[in-house]
Amino acid sequence: MSDNYDYDLIIIGAGSGGVRLARMSAQKGARVAVVESRYLGGTCVNVGCVPKKLFVYGSHAGEDIEDAKGYGWNVPKDQVRFDWPTLVANKNTEIDRLNGIYQRMLENAGVTIINGTASLTDGNTVAVAEDSYTARHITIATGGWPVTPDVPGKELILSSNEMFYLPQLPREAVVWGGGYIAVEFAGILAGLGVETTLLYRGDLFLRGFDDDVRKFVASELPKKGVKLRFGVTIDSVSAEGQDYSLALSDGTYLTTGLVMAATGRRALVDGLGLEALGVQFNAAGHIVVDEAFQTAVPSITALGDVIGTPQLTPVALAQGMVLTRRLFGDGEGVMDYNSIPTAVFCQPNIGTVGLTEAEARESHGKLRIYRSEFKPMKHTLSGRDERSLMKLVVEDNTDRVLGAHMVGPDAGEIVQGLAVALKAGATKAQFDSTLGVHPTSAEEFVTMREPVAD
Ligand code: NDP
Repeated sequence: MSDNYDYDLIIIGAGSGGVRLARMSAQKGARVAVVESRYLGGTCVNVGCVPKKLFVYGSHAGEDIEDAKGYGWNVPKDQVRFDWPTLVANKNTEIDRLNGIYQRMLENAGVTIINGTASLTDGNTVAVAEDSYTARHITIATGGWPVTPDVPGKELILSSNEMFYLPQLPREAVVWGGGYIAVEFAGILAGLGVETTLLYRGDLFLRGFDDDVRKFVASELPKKGVKLRFGVTIDSVSAEGQDYSLALSDGTYLTTGLVMAATGRRALVDGLGLEALGVQFNAAGHIVVDEAFQTAVPSITALGDVIGTPQLTPVALAQGMVLTRRLFGDGEGVMDYNSIPTAVFCQPNIGTVGLTEAEARESHGKLRIYRSEFKPMKHTLSGRDERSLMKLVVEDNTDRVLGAHMVGPDAGEIVQGLAVALKAGATKAQFDSTLGVHPTSAEEFVTMREPVAD
């Protein structure tokens, strides 16, 4: 791989996809540098999956303490205290530890880390402050950034980024949006005792998920203290002393202590200078790439959230593997975006893999639908009014399971195993011939015998 370039590959962005590509390419003998302006590990490690999950654990702990009563543990309510700064500080310590691990992983792989903000001066040159570096290949892995709709008072609205470092919790909060981040944060806040209202512009949140899952989550979240208001959006925000006054699209007003927008994310490409070089963008602002992750400029590739494929860490990691193979391996390999399992860590969790019922009806015709709703065993003694949902979408003529959906504790953990079955093309008969693990919630997935709909 010798030529006159400083590096074989410069990656801009040390998030999940960039770091995976860097390490794997270096292991193949490539000379690799990563430029990062913010933090190692990207959104996932710093202001996404990892701290979010720690907050979810933290918020659920309060419920666990209450639930213990039915099991004989007497914890007087007035002796239970929650300290937000402790949770934030402990989370920060863990994130620092992970940042260190990322740094050592890159260094041990022989990857050069360049701290600073990058821009491209041509298809093979990256400028960082006063310095310039050349490379045979440049990969854009800069990820995404939260978007807040342009309403008066927008500057008063927080994004998920700031929520991870809030100095104190408000008594009341409004979460704006109805996607992954909105339902996860609404659950975190409510679990920590904040009076939480989720505002969503459409009729039912979690667009893209199975309709039964969406309705079921809408019936469960209020039990956890999340107030849901659908069909309404924020027109403006103004400060009112320590509080905020929201003018809503239905003509009503709402006063609250904090407003957080979870209204989607955009590709983070500011200042990179890609347009001038001829890199193409789609209408949503994502970089357009082919199946080899190549942009319109042959030496420039891109992966991860910046290209608008599902914004999930495992997707970026897999793309990093494919791109390594493309650039420094046998030049083959494509991504398979079918049956990507995913979890939403609202409370209770959603776990899902494969097609929703609506998608399957459109693409596969006659179906058999299996559905089960029940009270998880834990709550027989805790007395908590929480229910779980499981659903299988089966193609009638082939008996193939096209989709598996769950709402309930540990749904993400359970769906990971089912994803293997779906990837392998499992049939409903094979689900039926699999013995259950007893007593678990998961066994319900192999004991649903009668279709509820076709
Ligand atoms: P999503 O795209 O999932 O949801 C955005 C939400 O905001 C939707 O409900 C959307 O409504 C609404 N919205 C968009 N624009 C406006 C507007 N102008 N006014 C009012 N509402 C608006 O984005 P998130 O920010 O929640 O998350 C981004 C991505 O990050 C996710 O798609 C997911 O891929 C990833 N992620 C994954 C997680 C996980 O794996 N557990 C956790 C968190 C994030 P509508 O549906 O009507 O368009």
